[in-house]
Amino acid sequence: MDYDVIIVGASIAGCTAATAYGRAGLRVALVERHRNPQAHKTLCGHFVLGGTHDVLQRLDLWQPMLPRGAAVTHSLGVLIEPGTGTGIRTGTTPWAGTGTEWIVPRPDSRIPPAISLRRRKLDPLLREIAGSTPGVDLKPGHRAVGLVEDAGGAVAGVVTTDLGTGRTTTLRARLVVGADGHRSTVAALAGVAEDHAPNERFLFWTYYEGAATNGPGDGQVWRLGQDVAVCIPVDDGLTQVGVFPAKDRLSEFTADRTAAFERFAARLPDGPSLAGARRVSNLIGTTDYPCVRRDPTPRPGLALIGDAATTSDPVPAVGCGWAFRSAAWLADATAETLALGGDLRPALRSYRRAHRFIDKYDDLGRKEALATPPDRLQRAVYAAAVTDPDIARRLAMFAMRAAGPSVLLNPKVMARAFAGARVRGRRRNDSRAPASPSTPHRAPVP
Ligand SMILES: Cc1cc2nc3c(=O)[nH]c(=O)nc-3n(C[C@H](O)[C@H](O)[C@H](O)COP(=O)(O)OP(=O)(O)OC[C@H]3O[C@@H](n4cnc5c(N)ncnc54)[C@H](O)[C@@H]3O)c2cc1C
Repeated sequence: MDYDVIIVGASIAGCTAATAYGRAGLRVALVERHRNPQAHKTLCGHFVLGGTHDVLQRLDLWQPMLPRGAAVTHSLGVLIEPGTGTGIRTGTTPWAGTGTEWIVPRPDSRIPPAISLRRRKLDPLLREIAGSTPGVDLKPGHRAVGLVEDAGGAVAGVVTTDLGTGRTTTLRARLVVGADGHRSTVAALAGVAEDHAPNERFLFWTYYEGAATNGPGDGQVWRLGQDVAVCIPVDDGLTQVGVFPAKDRLSEFTADRTAAFERFAARLPDGPSLAGARRVSNLIGTTDYPCVRRDPTPRPGLALIGDAATTSDPVPAVGCGWAFRSAAWLADATAETLALGGDLRPALRSYRRAHRFIDKYDDLGRKEALATPPDRLQRAVYAAAVTDPDIARRLAMFAMRAAGPSVLLNPKVMARAFAGARVRGRRRNDSRAPASPSTPHRAPVP
């Protein structure tokens, strides 16, 4: 064997896996089609959810991001308008200035922090770390164009083309890893089935210098009916403002994208002050980004990580975190077996089991991507989270993917949320009754 592992794709997932395998003493080929060490993904909002913090710390990837200027987000304020979002669409923002609907976890909620470093800095950094790890043979400018199979049909290697010389090389290893993104060539070459699901939102974002935020927390998320918006601190002190409207608003953005974006941002209740700020990039985004899923262990000798396994809706900002985590889980499950020359099948099954964490969230994410207004259950949870610190904490853990979905979606939390909704409903009815001098002011409820 030439290597213990061949990884195709030297971006988040591939570099993370290569670094982990190299540190475990394995011989790794890391094949990347881009020749330029500064190559990076441009279509990515790079907000890495707090649920990834542990893995980044464990692999010593968190600390190196900080001197590059990465922004760490400890708390996110979330504002929910659970109806149709008519305010933002028509320009009337009935919540502006009230601040009563913001959900902000208490500072002692122990939500792990999120981190944001633009991909122009993150990708070269990860490649530098992986490429300098002993045992890792980084092959820039090499495209994977074929797979090698052994006599039993297991994947046993990769055929690459050197994009400079045109030379073709066959590399062999016990494990081949597809870390080559949502259009995974490796998966296609292996004949892996794809499961597609629609995404009913589109998205655009840009970066501002000198923007002042007005909502609570380090960053803010607005869920206004079907539409979503974010305001997030990123590296170099910049502020990222992103809008994720439902597709029925596409024509508005097609007519004049920048004007529609600025109108949307200006209408955000407690939104950022952009009047004196300088926009430092074009609008970045896409009008269609369907969800794609593939079996992460589709064939003997083959594993998929990152987007190659699960390409999720960009709105909840899960993809980078899934790429870091699935890469780490694959290395955890297989490195020792590869080093000792043991049977890879149980090791790959163990990776498959770990990956269910992602699958469960992806099931929920696919429903969210349909951009329907929040259902009764979601409305009850959101309303409860405004005043109930435990539900606010659980909602934040869920949003940061810092625990399994049951941290929020469990009968106890649901019962409490519905009980709270009933109480608020009664109070609302009471408040509609002729006013009594002692009736206290109530926050608006859905
Ligand atoms: C609009 C948008 C916004 C997003 N915002 C966020 C966000 O805010 N937060 C978040 O967590 N996620 C976000 N994501 C998702 C995130 O960008 C991806 O999940 C993440 O990049 C996946 O990393 P990866 O390493 O699996 O794949 P990629 O980053 O796509 O890397 C694949 C690598 O494989 C290489 N490659 C491909 N084919 C071959 C081949 N044949 N041979 C050799 N090399 C090859 C490529 O050159 C590339 O380097 C967003 C996605 C989109 C589309």
